[in-house]
Order: sequence, then structure tokens, then C-alpha cells
Amino acid sequence: MKLLHTIHEYQQTKPTQPAFVSQHASITYDELWHLSDQMAGAIDAVTNDSAPVIVYGHMEPEMLISFLGSVKSGRPYIPVDISIPAERIVSIIESSKASLLICANEQNVLDVEEHIEVKSAASLLALEKEAPPSSQWVQQDDVFYIIYTSGSTGKPKGVQVTAKNLESFTEWMCRDFPIGEGRTFLNQAPFSFDLSVMDLYPALQSGGTLYCLVKDLVNKPKDMFAALGQSDVEVWTSTPSFVQMCLMDPSFTGELLPDLKVFLFCGEALPVSVASALLERFPKAQVFNTYGPTEATVAITSIEVTQAILDQHDSLPVGYAKPDTDIVILDEEGKNLPDGEKGEIVIVGPSVTRGYLGEQALTDKVFFEYEGRPAYRTGDAGVAQDGLITCHGRLDYQIKLHGYRMELEEIEYHVSETTHVNACVIVPFQPNGHVEYLIAAIVPAAHSFEKEYQLTSAIKKEMADSLPAYMIPRKFVYLEQLYMTPNGKVDRKRIAKEVLL
Ligand code: AMP
Repeated sequence: MKLLHTIHEYQQTKPTQPAFVSQHASITYDELWHLSDQMAGAIDAVTNDSAPVIVYGHMEPEMLISFLGSVKSGRPYIPVDISIPAERIVSIIESSKASLLICANEQNVLDVEEHIEVKSAASLLALEKEAPPSSQWVQQDDVFYIIYTSGSTGKPKGVQVTAKNLESFTEWMCRDFPIGEGRTFLNQAPFSFDLSVMDLYPALQSGGTLYCLVKDLVNKPKDMFAALGQSDVEVWTSTPSFVQMCLMDPSFTGELLPDLKVFLFCGEALPVSVASALLERFPKAQVFNTYGPTEATVAITSIEVTQAILDQHDSLPVGYAKPDTDIVILDEEGKNLPDGEKGEIVIVGPSVTRGYLGEQALTDKVFFEYEGRPAYRTGDAGVAQDGLITCHGRLDYQIKLHGYRMELEEIEYHVSETTHVNACVIVPFQPNGHVEYLIAAIVPAAHSFEKEYQLTSAIKKEMADSLPAYMIPRKFVYLEQLYMTPNGKVDRKRIAKEVLL
């Protein structure tokens, strides 16, 4: 696989160049290469199948070592961040049939031993095994990683990204964006989100350094800005929400990050006000808006947001498709719509992934062949005009909150499963089209709590076993019943009206 060969070349030509840096640790290309070799050998030694390997942790160098170790051993990896609760991890274990879970950090204890063999990265490296031959590495059509995203049925679904999908993406990034060679890339998103792939592999493919912003630091803005000021970051990758938070601090300017050359955004709409503030505060940097779902490997459109673009648009377009990809806009019957007409954005080309692991029916719903090429129905409404794509929200109940992708139906499923709830609808509070927080509209079961806040805290506590904190609604409103439409469906609009009063 070309990406691995390229990393190998950097190991030989620039062995001491840092591949990974965080507040707590750093490793060079030489270390990354040798340790991932050892990890591959150890994975081979402790497993006797070719099932995917779950890699659990946050932003430790052992995450990268284990990712590369897995693919060098011929197995895909599944990155799982520490923000994911154990019950959800068990559902990932069951769905992926993984037989090994590597804990990047021995201090992050995880109680899943009865479902899977758990080994710490340190204990696997201590075996000091030899690397398997390169003929064993994952090949072009093999799955390279599997990222689990929110699923409307209540269970997360695993998107299988092949080596070919990933290569199509990283080659586009390195060729069509001004990211140069040997630069320092900011990594803000945990590795279980595909936004992290936007910096991880372009950094490694171009001999650069990944600078990871660990969670503890993000929670302390003062320390975070101090660390950023010393980071030498040249390529910034984050959600627009994250940079918007940074912009609240007046010190977030080109003076804090004098080397910064490029901002890359993906994952949610980039507000005009954010792009405009960045151009003003970072006059030497270029700003790119990119768009794409995990199912089509991170991003497949892009546009440089210049002052001229800002002057022309009230809301920013997501840009033009990458050269090997086509975007078509289809109507409900699957008919191609002409320029200017709104329909569903469908992505066609080599970035379209293999679909959801072990979920053929779900896969068949949205993955198909369009004129003989792999295609994915995004569920995003959009318009094309001379190749320029603009997003117009979702056609379903998927939302983005602070950059996190989630299906309202998945949250509803888990809330309804808790002891004190009979029925539930989740209402996003989105005053300007941008989701600020979630409200749970709940019909409670009979209970003995005296006060509503006690009921809320009991429900929240139970939810935390199955959902990550970012999916737990901020507000809870209790109703006697959920309104229905005349045809018997839950009347989301009416419920939203009632709870947003
Ligand atoms: P994810 O799989 O987490 O990357 O989420 C993919 C979804 O995020 C897309 O289907 C869109 O709904 C949304 N999205 C991604 N990038 C953008 C963007 N630049 N502008 C608007 N929405 C976006």
C-alpha cells in the first residue's frame, strides 16, 4: 500500500522528524515505523483470525502505533475514543466481531473483558515481535479502518473504508491543497471521528507532524492557547464549531500562530462570520471549506473561501467535487435534477466506501451503483450550479451538534429504553439554523420522584451508560402525551413548537 511505503520512506530519509506530538508525548518517524512493526507482529501472535482490531484510547502515540500495527498485520482497525461508554463499545464489539481490543493507555480501564480479549499497547510491544512481511499489509481493496457513526435504529453503524478509498482522499489532499511537505498539522477531533483522518494521513503522507490537542487542554482555554502558541501549527484542521470557540478569545490571531498557512474545515456548515473573522485575523492564511460524510471518506468537495467568495454568498457553498468524483443531485424518484434545482446530494466515485459492516440492508438503502460506479445517497439536500455545490440541510433526522454527528432517533431510542420514560422525542434548538443544544420531550412512566429535576437526573444517569456525553440533551421537558399527525406519526413539528415556547 502506497501510504505505508511513503511513511517507510520518511522513516529512512527523516528518521528523527516527529510524526506525532502532544502535551504529554511525542514520537519520531523512526519510532512510529519500528513500534508499529512490533505491534503488527504482536497482533499476529495473540490473535488467530483476521477480524478487525479495536483501538481504544484518546490522543496517545500508541493510537497511531496500533492503527499502523493493525493494517501492517493485514487487519482493519476501529478507533474508539475514551468518550464512548462501555455499553456502546460492547455493541461495536458485537457488530464488528472484533476479537482483540488494544488499550492505548493502561490508565483508561475498560470493563469489557467478558466480550473481547483486552491487551494494553505496552504489553503487546513488550513481546518484541518481528514484523510480518509487507505482503501481509492490507491491500488496495481491503478495509483499512472502520469508523462507527450514530445509527437511527439505536445502534452505531460501522463504515468500512478501504485502502483505496483512503488513498484517493489523501492523494487529493496532498495534491490540491497548499499543505506542502513536512508541516505541522493540528489534530482536534478524537480519532473515532473521521475529521481526524483529514490531518492524520495527509500529515503522514507528506512527512509532516501531527500536533494533537488533548481533551484536558481543550477544557482549559488559557492553557490551550498557551500550548497553541508554542505548537508551530501550520495546517489547521477542525470543525467550524471549534474554531468559532477559539475566535471568542481575542488573542486567537496570526500573532499567536505566525506559521499558520491553511485552515481546513469539514463536518458542518462554515458560517460566513467565522470565515470572515479568520481572513481578518489571519491575513497570511488560506481558508478552505470542505464537505463530505464518513461514508465517502472524510471529504469530497472543497472551495477556498476568499473575500470575493464571502462577498458573493450569504451562506457558503461547499465547493467543487474532487477530480475523480462526481456529484449528482437526484429527486425522490432517483431522477437527475438540472442545475439550480434542490434535491439529494449523491456522491459517485472511488471515495465511496464499502458500506456498513454486517448491515447489508442498511447498506443497500444508501449505497448503490450509478452508471457503473459506486455511489452514496448522502441524505443532504443540495443544489449544483456549474459544478459548485451548496448544502441545504438534511432530509432526515441526522444533526450536527458542536461538530458531532448524531441521529435524533438513536438518542430517542436510548432515552425510551430508560426505566422512567414511556416515550420521547428529541428537539434540536436551532435558532439560526445551527443546532445549539438538544431538548428531550418526554412522556414519563409512573415514578415516585417528588421533583422533576430528580427524574431528569435519574434519566440522564441511565443514558450515560449507553450514550456519549455529547449526545445527552441539555433540557428535559415533560409532556402528558406525544402529539400525533392525522396519519398516526409522531408530530415532531407540533412537539417542537410546544417545547420551544
Ligand atoms: P460526518 O460523517 O461526521 O463527516 O458527517 C457528514 C455530514 O456532515 C454531511 O452529510 C453533512 O450533513 C454535514 N457536513 C459535512 N461537511 C459539511 C459542510 N462543509 N457544510 C455543511 N454540512 C456539512
